[in-house]
Amino acid sequence: MKTKNGTNPAECIHNAKKIVLKIGSNTLAKKDGTINFEFMQEFANQCAALMEDGKQIVIVSSGAQVAGVSTLDKWARRKDTHYRQALCAIGQIELMDKWRCAFAAHDIHIGQLLLTNIDFTDDQRTLNMRNTLFTLVDEGVVPIINENDSVSFAEGRIGDNDNLSALTAIVWSADLLILFSDIDGIYTCNPKEFKDAALIETVKNIDELRASISIGATNDFGTGGITTKLEAAEKVTEYGIPMVLAHGGRKNILDNLAKGNAKGTLFLAK
Ligand code: GLU
Repeated sequence: MKTKNGTNPAECIHNAKKIVLKIGSNTLAKKDGTINFEFMQEFANQCAALMEDGKQIVIVSSGAQVAGVSTLDKWARRKDTHYRQALCAIGQIELMDKWRCAFAAHDIHIGQLLLTNIDFTDDQRTLNMRNTLFTLVDEGVVPIINENDSVSFAEGRIGDNDNLSALTAIVWSADLLILFSDIDGIYTCNPKEFKDAALIETVKNIDELRASISIGATNDFGTGGITTKLEAAEKVTEYGIPMVLAHGGRKNILDNLAKGNAKGTLFLAK
């Protein structure tokens, strides 16, 4: 176990070499539900700059389902498992095609890993996946991970990419996990409803935090909400990995976090 804490997100990024970046569906999709390629290009630019700086990056990207809907322009309201799995099968390649183009502008290759719960519970599979991650990263390739939604909608599903990114950070022995969502961080109460909601910038004790805030519903396209973000924070901080929650929709958010120009909530590693 190792801890590379800092007192704020900028220090944590500075102190980290291996960073897992999770991007939620709400960050990847525009208001009309189509994939936001401009965001992906901007994000790839910032990742390339961090890599130039000697950082290693693994991305956990949501958005298969949302990309499936926007590609087909139908089945948006189908809730039955087979259709949702089919949507993800269609959307995942659209999503990866866009990531591939965004990183190709920097001559950076990407590699896709589609994972399920079994990959984290079966030692041999975990080891295989870990080795693949290390090899890709050592060779300067950016691994992009999602849950294998086309096969894992039933039992054995991780279910949300907050927890998937936490498990990934642990398996890869990352120094830092950053979750990009559609909120600046954890607030004392819902900032969309209450004007006096205050951003909590540092969290030491997640149980105390959970007892002191009101946890609302999930957002428009994502599956997690605050509950799964706290679960992810619990998982990684236990392993000595700090976690930052920040607003993916803010301009050049990764770069601004690194320079101390943007805020988020930092969960300190234990
Ligand atoms: N794996 C899902 C997708 O790509 C997203 C899960 C999540 O939003 O946490 O659509």
